[in-house]
Amino acid sequence: MTRRRRIYEGKAKVLFEGPEPGTLVQYFKDDATAFNNQKRGTITGKGVLNNRISEYLMTKLNEAGVPTHFVRRLNMREQLVREVEIIPLEVVIRNVAAGSLSKRFGMPEGTALPRSIVEFYYKSDELADPMVSEEHITAFGWASPQDLDDIMALALRINDFLSGLFLGVGLKLVDFKLEFGRLYENDEMRIVLADEISPDSCRLWDVKTNEKLDKDRFRRDLGGVEEAYQEVARRLGILPESGPRDMKGPETMQ
Ligand code: UDP
Repeated sequence: MTRRRRIYEGKAKVLFEGPEPGTLVQYFKDDATAFNNQKRGTITGKGVLNNRISEYLMTKLNEAGVPTHFVRRLNMREQLVREVEIIPLEVVIRNVAAGSLSKRFGMPEGTALPRSIVEFYYKSDELADPMVSEEHITAFGWASPQDLDDIMALALRINDFLSGLFLGVGLKLVDFKLEFGRLYENDEMRIVLADEISPDSCRLWDVKTNEKLDKDRFRRDLGGVEEAYQEVARRLGILPESGPRDMKGPETMQ
């Protein structure tokens, strides 16, 4: 087997050169980090589950007309994606108070927000991802006002779509983080959804019990981390029960 050229290694994923120009292979690791790398660990099977969960969500979003970098899943841990120029922002969409918002404003976790809130953070490990405003983003040239308009519109559409999808399987989409990239095609540029969507980047709570089914179980040492990721996949109908071909559709909850 020929070794593919490694383009970039992040905390939870590795990007390799893809089979054709303009493509990359995104490999999902089991490594987990939190609090800007201060807490590190391994969540067994996380890479396999996040590859599947992100494939499922990106495919559904594509079908709903949201442009994404996703092409297809290649195997248990890898997916083929379009090569994009990543915009150095973490775009966080919040529906319910939790995490850093609760801390910043002294708002108890679980408080419903009057409307969905979009926040921007500058992607920088050295600076611990500082929160930034649209003024910083446009003044420092990380994105143009037009890019930001596109990003805001896409983020809100994605939030509406995913909130409904998760509610259908008994999960509350509390908040989540997205990354966007510029895709260049025939002299044209468009903003597309990139990176991944998984329990690493979303807060997902059981609708009835508010049980946390996401990375907060790792961040806060709540136990049952692997089981939580599996439960999300199971509810989405993408956790094979007796082998990889045993795939059910989503389970609708009353
Ligand atoms: N998030 C993420 N990567 C980050 C920071 C946050 O995926 O580097 C996600 C996180 O999982 C949550 C949302 O963004 O769903 C909001 O995170 P928050 O700002 O509350 O920060 P945290 O409490 O996770 O430090």
